[in-house]
Amino acid sequence: MTEGERALREAIVTQCRWMNASGLNQGTSGNISARHEDAMLITPSAVPYEDLDPGMIVRMPLSAEDGRFEGSLRPSTEWRFHRDILRARPEFGAVVHTHSPHATALSMLRREIPACHYMIAAFGGSTIRCADYATFGTAELSRNALVALEDRKGCLLANHGMIVADEDLARAMWLAVELETLARQYVIAVQIGTPFVLDDAEIERMQRAFAGYGLRPATQASEE
Ligand SMILES: [Zn+2]
Repeated sequence: MTEGERALREAIVTQCRWMNASGLNQGTSGNISARHEDAMLITPSAVPYEDLDPGMIVRMPLSAEDGRFEGSLRPSTEWRFHRDILRARPEFGAVVHTHSPHATALSMLRREIPACHYMIAAFGGSTIRCADYATFGTAELSRNALVALEDRKGCLLANHGMIVADEDLARAMWLAVELETLARQYVIAVQIGTPFVLDDAEIERMQRAFAGYGLRPATQASEE
């Protein structure tokens, strides 16, 4: 194993533990993948994150259709959408999936998040879409997620949770925090009134501002 792969495996373990300690995820429901050369490194299925070590991270070739993997443990049951997102979107280096409470609550209503805060521009547009429902682990769920992620770095999954992806693991985890925060703020706002929605021109302005500003993840993700 190369130094690069070892470091990436350690970063995945660190981020999994942080994801649960921060309340962003519960139990073993969430999962993380990262691109490494022509393969994906992904969390194993059903291993509590406190027991996880870098050697348990599963390696799957991105080109394989049959779900074959290298490692002593089986990959996350959601390996299919991780693989399909990394395949379809070469700009992404990492994918984070969580059942974070507020994003998941909105997914239960199958409601997209509108541009109720300018931070939505960090996800590539003026909405966070909600992917149509499909059973976990299926090719249908993977297809639905790809549709909801078109021109976006995040989406909700109906009656399930959320997915975010970005160029590397630190940025993807930062987006996971931002998406859960946005969902929480939107849930609070709709309880007390009707949120004002920013227009598309303002969101486009914010996207340009973010690009120029070089928006970086907060320090929590800097262990990578
Ligand atoms: Zn899930």
